Amino acid sequence: MAVKGLRWLAGVGLLIIILGGVCSAEGAKTVEVWKNLFTVINGDGIDSNTTFLITRDGVVVVDTRVTPMEAAKVLKEIRKQTDLPILYTINTHYHGDHTFGNQVFKDSRAIIAHENVRKTLFGSSGKAHLDFFKTMNIPGMDETVITLPNIVFKEKMEIFVGGYNLRLIHARGHTDGDLFIYIEELKTLITGDLVFNGKIPYMGDAYVEEWISALNELSNLDAEIYIPGHGAPGGKPVLLAMKDYIYNLKGMVLKQLENGKSLKETQDVVRPALQEKFKTWKNLNWLDANIKRTYLEYSLTQ
Ligand SMILES: [Zn+2]
Repeated sequence: MAVKGLRWLAGVGLLIIILGGVCSAEGAKTVEVWKNLFTVINGDGIDSNTTFLITRDGVVVVDTRVTPMEAAKVLKEIRKQTDLPILYTINTHYHGDHTFGNQVFKDSRAIIAHENVRKTLFGSSGKAHLDFFKTMNIPGMDETVITLPNIVFKEKMEIFVGGYNLRLIHARGHTDGDLFIYIEELKTLITGDLVFNGKIPYMGDAYVEEWISALNELSNLDAEIYIPGHGAPGGKPVLLAMKDYIYNLKGMVLKQLENGKSLKETQDVVRPALQEKFKTWKNLNWLDANIKRTYLEYSLTQ
C-alpha cells in the first residue's frame, strides 16, 4: 500500500521532501529518501536497514540484510526501480544483520568494508557469528554462506560512481570496523549502526567513548538526511536523539562509578532513569547490557 507525502523539516528552514513516499515489500517498507536514494526499513527477521543509490551507471547497495532470502527481497525492490547492474556493495560493519545477505550481491564489482569486517567474518570467528545467528530461529538463516568483503580499507575511501562521490569513513564505536558514508551532494549520511532511530542500540561490541567521538564526527559534517542502521531515515533530530541517549548513558553510569557503586547497584539506578527518559524507544530490554558495557569500559579508565 502506498503512503504518499512523508515529509519532515530539517536544517534551518529547509523543507526536505521524501520523494515518492513509502511502498511495501512484504514486511518491509521501501522509502524513497531522495530521488534515486532508497532505504528498505522494518524488514523481517531483524529490522536492519538496506540503502540503495541508483546512479546513471548502476546501483550501490549499502548493507545486505540478515539472510539471502531477505537480501533477495531487497534485490526485488531494486529491480522495481531499475535494471541497471549492481556495481558496489558496502557493509557498514560485520554484524550478520548487515552482511549475511552478501551472497545475493556477490556479482557486484566489489563488496567493500573496513578491514576488520573481513577479519571478523573470516574463518572461525565468522562461523561462530553465523552459528550465533542460527540460534535466533530466523527463517532462511541456514542458506547463509558467509560472503566476505573483497575490497577493504583502514581509514577512508572514496568511490566516484555515476555522478556521485561517496566518502566512506571508518570510525570505531558500535564495533571495531564501522564505516559511515557521506554523500555531500545529497547532504546525506548513511550511518550504519552508529545511529539507531527510536530503538535502544545494540552495544555488545561497543567502544562507548569512541562511539561518542564518532557521533561528534557525524555532527561536524554538513548533512540534512540521516539514514540509520535501524529505524526510519530522518533529519538532524535522529542524530541528536542518539547522542542524547549515549551521553545520558555515559553520564549516569559515570556518576555511579564515582560513588563506588557496583554494577548491579548501577543498573538498578540507571535502568529506570533511562527507561523513563527513552520510554517510547524499542529494545528497552537491552538497557542492562548497555549499562554493563559502559560500566566495564569506564571502570578500566577510572
Ligand atoms: Zn550492528
